[in-house]
Amino acid sequence: MAEMTYDTAKPVLVTGATGFVAGWLVKQLLELGYTVHAAVRSPDDEAKRSHLDALAGQTPGAIRYFKADLNEPGSFDAAAEGCSVIFHTASPFTSKISDPQTDLVDPAVNGTRTVLEAANKAQSVERVVLTSSCAAIYGDNQDVADAPGACLTEAVWNTTSSLDHQAYSYSKTQAERAAWDMAKAQDRWRLVVVNPSFILGPSLNEKPTSESFAIVRQLADGSMKTGAPPYEIGAVDVRDVADAHVRAAFIPEAEGRHITSAVNTSLLGLAERLRDQVGEGPFPTRELPKFMVWLVGPMMNKMLTRKMISRNMGHAFCADNTKSKRALGMEYRDIAPGLGEMHAQLKAAGKV
Ligand code: NDP
Repeated sequence: MAEMTYDTAKPVLVTGATGFVAGWLVKQLLELGYTVHAAVRSPDDEAKRSHLDALAGQTPGAIRYFKADLNEPGSFDAAAEGCSVIFHTASPFTSKISDPQTDLVDPAVNGTRTVLEAANKAQSVERVVLTSSCAAIYGDNQDVADAPGACLTEAVWNTTSSLDHQAYSYSKTQAERAAWDMAKAQDRWRLVVVNPSFILGPSLNEKPTSESFAIVRQLADGSMKTGAPPYEIGAVDVRDVADAHVRAAFIPEAEGRHITSAVNTSLLGLAERLRDQVGEGPFPTRELPKFMVWLVGPMMNKMLTRKMISRNMGHAFCADNTKSKRALGMEYRDIAPGLGEMHAQLKAAGKV
């Protein structure tokens, strides 16, 4: 793996800077001494940015806020001006959707185009690091069996998600495809993509924003006490995801997509780690039979459609993180302590 090289003379842009992943990324950039252009929807909301202000006060870097929205054309132009690197992390990641097109796909895809148009306009930009997802690589666990060697690599694309089925995964797939199209249409800046699996770990923001917290909460608040759905997933610590972004930006040779995932595990595997970290609690101790989830799941949670259950529960998951280790030099940390820290934050907030 090549060494990282950085030049802090020019600022860097982080979109969605108040988010969960972005917080740890901004921290690393400030520690390196960068001036971070933080593009956020609500720059005047002190509660959302106080953790970033505190970090800027303790590190050699500096932070400047810019108001920007993925739904507004031209919104990121001012923030991108003069920057050498754009980190595009912002994208809607939520289960609270009423219309998948307007709530997920439009901001993800049009927003990515808007950010990359800002890269095209700002002559200083040399690299764009996009936070995509393993969701752009596969749609359902059943797809994993179709991958070469039944394990996902960067060569695989999600072809099974749609507006009606796994809409979030569809939004991430369409956004990454749009990014590659725009990257190929020019030759000044290079696109490097980070594709994380399920991200966990502590939040720097006192009020965690990410859907990741809602998912871990369900493992810890008793909702799955009778058993976890038999669902295999990949998982990675948020600090490793931030690290992968920094490496993707500053290793000169970095190129293409990078599966960023520490382990192949399951919901029950996460629950077992939680118990190890926290001690006893209302965590699931077994997996529910697939037929039971199929029968009652749709009544418990509208995200759990019968198709989603059929194509995911009880199917093996495997993601190959070899490229991220080789090309980015990633050495993944154990995910268990991060789960414990997440639990402590949920507990402090009275959520579990
Ligand atoms: P967060 O919800 O904490 O971060 C998402 C960010 O996107 C927020 O800062 C949010 O801003 C911003 N955003 C959403 N909609 C808009 C909009 N219309 N205009 C401007 N900004 C917007 O989640 P994460 O940190 O977990 O997610 C960060 C990235 O990582 C996303 O791209 C997500 O798809 C990706 N990812 C996440 C995984 C996970 O398990 N968490 C796994 C794989 C990929 P605001 O604070 O104003 O709401």
